[in-house]
Amino acid sequence: MTTPKKIAIIGAGISGLAAAYELTLKARRTGTPVDIKIFEKASSPGGKIITKKDDSYLIEGGPDCFIIEKPWALQLVKELGLEDELLNTSSRASGTFVFDNHALHRLPEGVMMMVPTKPLPFLASKLISWPGKLRMAGDLLVPKRKDGGDETLASFVRRRLGREALDKLAEPLIGGIHAGNPENMSLLSTFPRFLEMEQDGGSLIIGMLKRQKKMVEMMKKRPAPTGPKKTFFISMNDGLGRIVDKLSEVIGRENILLERDISQITPAPKGGWIISETNREISPVDAVIITTEAYSAADLFREEMPRLSDLLAEIPYVSSATVSLAFPRQAIPHPLDAYGFIVPKIANRRIMAVTWSSIKWDHRAPEGMVLLRAFVGGAHRQELVATGDQEMLAMVREELNTIMNISSPPQKSWIYRWPRGMPQYIIGHLERLDAIDKITNDHKGLYLAGAAYRGIGIPDCINQGRQAAGRAWDNFSS
Ligand SMILES: Cc1cc2nc3c(=O)[nH]c(=O)nc-3n(C[C@H](O)[C@H](O)[C@H](O)COP(=O)(O)OP(=O)(O)OC[C@H]3O[C@@H](n4cnc5c(N)ncnc54)[C@H](O)[C@@H]3O)c2cc1C
Repeated sequence: MTTPKKIAIIGAGISGLAAAYELTLKARRTGTPVDIKIFEKASSPGGKIITKKDDSYLIEGGPDCFIIEKPWALQLVKELGLEDELLNTSSRASGTFVFDNHALHRLPEGVMMMVPTKPLPFLASKLISWPGKLRMAGDLLVPKRKDGGDETLASFVRRRLGREALDKLAEPLIGGIHAGNPENMSLLSTFPRFLEMEQDGGSLIIGMLKRQKKMVEMMKKRPAPTGPKKTFFISMNDGLGRIVDKLSEVIGRENILLERDISQITPAPKGGWIISETNREISPVDAVIITTEAYSAADLFREEMPRLSDLLAEIPYVSSATVSLAFPRQAIPHPLDAYGFIVPKIANRRIMAVTWSSIKWDHRAPEGMVLLRAFVGGAHRQELVATGDQEMLAMVREELNTIMNISSPPQKSWIYRWPRGMPQYIIGHLERLDAIDKITNDHKGLYLAGAAYRGIGIPDCINQGRQAAGRAWDNFSS
C-alpha cells in the first residue's frame, strides 16, 4: 500500500478553505487517500469572513456579500447545497447616495461603475456640475490610447472622464472596492475591462453600452436560469459565515488545525517541504498551498528563499475597520431609500462609506431597528483604524450626525479592525506576479493563492484556491 500524499494549506480564509475543498472532492471522486491539513493561526476559520449573531442582529465584520458576475462563489454555494439559503439584496430600496457639498445626492440611475449610460437621469443630477458633465461627455471625443500597457485608475479617469468624475465617482466607487488610492492603483490588475472598453468602443461610454448590449444578447441565448432570480450582489440568509461553516464540515473540522501559527517553510532535502511553527517542526509534506496575506507569506520564506520573500513583501496593504451600529428607526430622519452612501475623499470626512445593512439585506436587525455599517480607514485615513473603541465610536457617531442627522446614541455597536487587511494592486503588480510565478514554478509542490494576487473579491479568492489545488493534484498525478 502506498503512503497517502501529504498536503498542507497555510491559512483557513476562504482561499485556503476552497483549496482544501477542491482537494477533498478530488480525493473522494478518485478514491485516492490524501492527507490534507489546514494550518490557521487564528482560533476560528474564515479569515476576513466573520459573521456574528447577537440577539436578533446579524453582523458581518468583514465582507457582507459577493458578486455573481464572477461565477465561482455562486457555483461553490450550489455545490455545497446552500442555494436555497442565498439572499438577494432587498427590493424595498435600491441604489446608493454620494455625499458631496454637505448633502447626500443619489447616484444617477444608469451610472455603471462610474460610466453614465442614461443621459436624462445623469443630466438631471446635481452631483456633477455642468462643466463636469460636459467634460464627462467629452469621453465620446477623446481618442483612445494607442499604446497598450498599464495605467493608474486616476490617470485613466482624468484622461477619459475628467477630474470631477475621478473625485466624485471613480475614487469612492471604484477605488473604494480596494479601499485604495486611485493615484497608484494598477488598472490592468484591478479593472482591466475599463481598458478593454476603451479599446473596444473608442470611448468608455460607448464601450460600456456595447458591453451591456453583448450581455443582454448573451443572456437571451443562454438557457433560462433555473431557480429564483438572483441580484448582482448576493449574500446568505445566515451571513457569509454559513459558507465557511459548510466548507469546514465538508473538509472535516478535524483537518482544520486552529491556533497554529506557521513561522517557516523550507524545501526538504529529499523533495517536499518542511513546515515549522516557532517551537516545532511538522513532518515533511509533498505539497504546500500558502493562502495567507502576502506579508505573512514573505515571513515564511525569509530564511531560505529571500528573493521570493522580498517580492511578496513588496505587495502593499492598507488598514480599515467596520463599525456596525443599531438605531431605532425613529432615530433616523432619512427615508433610507437606498442601500447606503459613499464618501469621496474630497469631502474630507472620517468615514469612507456606510451600508444601510438592514435595508440592503433582510434578517439583519429586529423589527423597528436599523443596522448601519460604517467603513473607517482605507488608503487615505489608515491612522484612524488604530483609535480606541470609544474614540472610534464617537467619531463615527459625529460623522453620522453630520451626514445623516442622527443625534441619538446607538443601542448597540460592534467594531472590527482589519489592520493591513486589504492588499493593493499598485502599478507593477502584474510584473511582480510574473516574477513570483517564475520562482514558484521552479519549485515542485509550492503554490500561492489568495487575495494578494489575482482578485481580492470572494469569487476570485475561491477560484484561486481551487485552481492552486487543481495544479497540486495534477502534479501528484504526474
Ligand atoms: C472590511 C472588508 C470588507 C470586504 N468586503 C468584501 C465584500 O463585500 N465582498 C467581497 O467579495 N470581498 C470583500 N472583501 C475582500 C475579501 O473578504 C477578502 O479578500 C477575502 O475574504 C480574503 O480571503 P483569503 O482567504 O485570501 O485571505 P484571509 O481571509 O486574509 O485569510 C488568510 C488566513 O491566513 C491566516 N494566516 C496568516 N498568517 C498565518 C500563518 N503564519 N500561519 C497560519 N495562518 C496564517 C490568517 O489568520 C487568515 O485566516 C472585504 C475585505 C474586508 C477587509
